[in-house]
Formats: sequence, structure tokens, C-alpha cells
Amino acid sequence: MPSTALVWIRHDLRTRDHEPLRSAAERHDRVVPVYCFDPRHFGTTMFDLPKMSAVRARFLRESVADLRQSYRDLGADLVVRRGRPEEILPEVARQVAADEVLMYQEIGTEERETEEAVKQALDDTEATPGFFWGKTLYHIQDLPFDGPDDIPNVYTNFRKGVEKQSRIRETISPPESLPALPDNMEPGALPTLDDLGFEADGSVDERAVLPFEGGETRGLDRIDEYIWREDRLRTYKATRNGLLGANYSSKFSPWLAHGCISPRQIYEEVQRYEDERVSNKSTYWMTFELIWRDFFTFVAWKGGARLFRPGGLLGNDIDWRYDDAAFDRWATGTTGIPFVDANMRELNQTGYMSNRGRQNVASMLSQSLKLDWRLGAAYFESRLVDYDVASNWGNWAYNSRVGNDPRSRYFNIVKQAKRYDENGDYVRTWLPELEGVPDEFVHEPHRMSPEQQKLYGCVLGDDYPSPIVDLNETYQRIQRERA
Ligand SMILES: Cc1cc2nc3c(=O)[nH]c(=O)nc-3n(C[C@H](O)[C@H](O)[C@H](O)COP(=O)(O)OP(=O)(O)OC[C@H]3O[C@@H](n4cnc5c(N)ncnc54)[C@H](O)[C@@H]3O)c2cc1C
Repeated sequence: MPSTALVWIRHDLRTRDHEPLRSAAERHDRVVPVYCFDPRHFGTTMFDLPKMSAVRARFLRESVADLRQSYRDLGADLVVRRGRPEEILPEVARQVAADEVLMYQEIGTEERETEEAVKQALDDTEATPGFFWGKTLYHIQDLPFDGPDDIPNVYTNFRKGVEKQSRIRETISPPESLPALPDNMEPGALPTLDDLGFEADGSVDERAVLPFEGGETRGLDRIDEYIWREDRLRTYKATRNGLLGANYSSKFSPWLAHGCISPRQIYEEVQRYEDERVSNKSTYWMTFELIWRDFFTFVAWKGGARLFRPGGLLGNDIDWRYDDAAFDRWATGTTGIPFVDANMRELNQTGYMSNRGRQNVASMLSQSLKLDWRLGAAYFESRLVDYDVASNWGNWAYNSRVGNDPRSRYFNIVKQAKRYDENGDYVRTWLPELEGVPDEFVHEPHRMSPEQQKLYGCVLGDDYPSPIVDLNETYQRIQRERA
């Protein structure tokens, strides 16, 4: 009887640096990779917002299609099913008489619940579950901390700890070939976006920083493009706070979030670049940012369900507001504060927003408008093409004063806008109604007199909204609260 392993694929849509696949190929005669389109991923969040946008669903589907092609090139195929993994995997395991079901562990509470349900459902089969870790740069077993409770609350302490006391493991090469699927295993068709309940086709506005095509092939190409062909790593630290264009930052996040590429692959490429071209603060900074990603992942591990509560990881007692009209204005990019509105419109029309933008719109929602920060996080979840449970909810909590790090973070939005979008090019890109407004007023159109509004073709209340709050007052309130 040949030995058989199922490999359950989730946010690890790649063939390279994939330990469960490698382990299955090395130890078993037959390998059956399975991807389940889980209906829960296409449902709604706690605030009745969709869990996934058509843009992300398109990216996911492209990633699954690309993975299937890679398996076919290796001689195998990907089994694709629609339904709950805890129902599908035992069924497939029985059908092929699997000995093992190998998988990467995940960190979100819902993902862990599904994992647990799969584990329990496999009890009624002959297959044993096998778990691996592959999400982060530093392997969970190599952390210099005693379990989740010992993860530092402050990033710098976490970073110094891992940099001094841990090492980054090498990437794992893909199998050179894979056995064909067992004869009785039908690979199954890839669902269309329509099948998954989307009316839109997931295409994005032409002003998008990148078209963001899903899959390992395009993810690896983006690493090559950004680091080698465009040669951007040498200046990354100086450009990473940009707002316009493909190359101010790496844009690796959608491929990382879906596991089309791994952080260790990026790290090895950075090392090669440092050996062959230049090693400077910028080249180090890419690793520094990937450690932020690790930090939020392990903080989510530490926080568990607390990460999704109103008081966040700290359990802070904050009197959040619930105001549908204010939330709608924030979400639709009609607050009357151009820097916030431009960023929200970019998110809505492309699924992406720069890190600088994300920090400012988060600050606007939770600190200026005092709305429950989880509304913002859930909205991002429903819109981002690079949505990652730990990075999203962790950053939101961190920017809303309920993260693990108690330091207050508030952004003076107008000051930030003037610093990072000096000539207003970014806001004008997303808010064409500001086209004729001179630089002097572009970040504060409400400062124009009625005559100036007419002269520059932007009448407040008609062409563009008046500001939803007085940001100066907000800023002073927060300064008082901080003191
Ligand atoms: C409110 C808020 C929500 C966010 N939600 C997400 C999310 O759902 N998914 C996501 O991947 N990132 C999220 N981020 C982090 C960050 O904004 C994005 O990772 C980054 O903008 C992606 O663009 P990039 O790949 O060009 O980044 P680069 O600047 O090129 O950074 C390289 C990589 O480092 C990692 N990274 C950089 N900054 C951070 C950070 N602050 N936290 C965690 N990882 C980081 C990312 O994996 C990124 O791809 C969020 C940040 C904020 C403030």
C-alpha cells in the first residue's frame, strides 16, 4: 500500500520554501495538495461588512490558479474544493487512504478554530495531522522568549531580542517533481468570482500603484523587479514613506499575505543584494520592516481573542463612539480632510494604501472621530488586497492606543499631509475636485474664502465637503489628554 500525504494549503500559496510540501514529497509515495474555498471567508465580519473584496478574491483566485499550474509543471495537481476544510479534508483523506494531513499553523483566532475543527474531524480517519510553522522570518521555535506571554510589548525589545539571540533559517527548496494525483482524485474546477458571490470582477482603477496580480510567479517577479531590475533597495529607507507610484516601497505585502512568497525568500535576496551591490541602512531597513511583521504576528499569538475587543490588547476602557454617518464619511472618503479622503478613495478603488496613509486614516477614525477602532480594522479587512489578520488588527490597535505598546500615537494629519505630499500631487490624483485649488490650500480647502472657492472651482458643500471635525481642536484635545 503506497503511503499518502495530504497537504492542506491556506495562506501559503507557493511551492518554494514550503516545508509541508517538501516533507510530504520526501516521506510519502503520493502527495495530494488541497485548497478549500471556505464559505466563511466570503461572509461578513462582526460589523456586517464583507470579509473580502472582489479585488482580494481576484488576487486569491489568481494565486490558486498559479499554484495549480506550478504543481502541474512538477507532475502533480491541486485539488480544489468549495466548502469547510473540516468537512472536505476528512473526505479527501478517506478517499485516498491518507496517512498524514500536513499543514502550516496560522495565528488568527478563526484560523486556529478551523485548524482545531480539522484536527478533530481527522480523528475519524486513519490520517494524522502534522503541523509546521512558516509565516515569519524568525521561526516560532527559535524565538528567545518563553512562550507567548513572554513576547515583549515594545517592538524594539522584540527586535533586539531576535536579532541578538536567534537566527533566520534558510529557505527550503521545492521538490524537483511530484507524483501524479491518485487516479480516483478529481482535481476540481476553480470557482469564478461569480460562483463566490461577487458581482464585480476585481479589476482596479488605472491610478493603482500596481495592478497586483496574484500568484507565486508574479510575487517572485516583483522581488526581482523591485530589488534587482529597478534597483530600489539601496534607497528604500528614504523613499518608503511615499504615496505615488509602484516603487516608493516594495509592494510585497499582497504576495506575503497570501503566502505566495515567504519573508525568508526576501531576506535571502536582500543578503545577495548586499553581497553583490550595496549594503547600507536602506538594505537593512527591509529586514527591519519584516521584523515588524513578525512582531505583530507574535503579538497576535500572545493576545489571542483580546486583539479583537474594544479595549484591545491592553484592555483599555475607552468610551468609543458609534456614529454611522461619521463612519460612512470616513469610509467613502468624504470627510472634507483631503489627505484622509484621498487615501480612503485609493483604498476603495484599488485595495491598496501606503503605510503613511494607513497610519493617518487610522488616527482619524479612532482618535479624531473617536469611533470604535474595530470598525476601521474591519473596514480595512473588507477592502485590503494585502489583508493579514495580525498586521491589520495589530497595527490598528497600535495606532488606536489599545495595542500592546501603550505609547500614544497620534498623527497631526494636516502637518503630515504637508510633509509627505508637499505639492498636493497625491491628493489631486484621488480628488479631482481639488484640481484647480492652489498648493497653499490643497490640504485645507476650508481655509479658502467663498470668493476663492468660486475662483478655484471648488465650492465647499457643493464640490467638496466641509471638514467633519476641526482637526486643530482635536489635536489640542489629544495633547491635553496626553499631558
Ligand atoms: C492601520 C494599518 C493597517 C495595516 N494593515 C496591514 C495588513 O492588513 N496587511 C499588511 O501586510 N500590512 C498591513 N499594514 C502594514 C503596512 O502598512 C503594509 O505592510 C505596507 O504598507 C505594505 O506595503 P509594502 O509591501 O510596499 O511595504 P514595504 O514598506 O515595502 O515593507 C516591506 C514589508 O514589510 C512588512 N511591513 C512593513 N511595515 C509593516 C508594519 N507596520 N506592520 C507589519 N508589517 C509591515 C510588510 O510585510 C511589507 O510588505 C498596516 C498598517 C497600518 C498602519
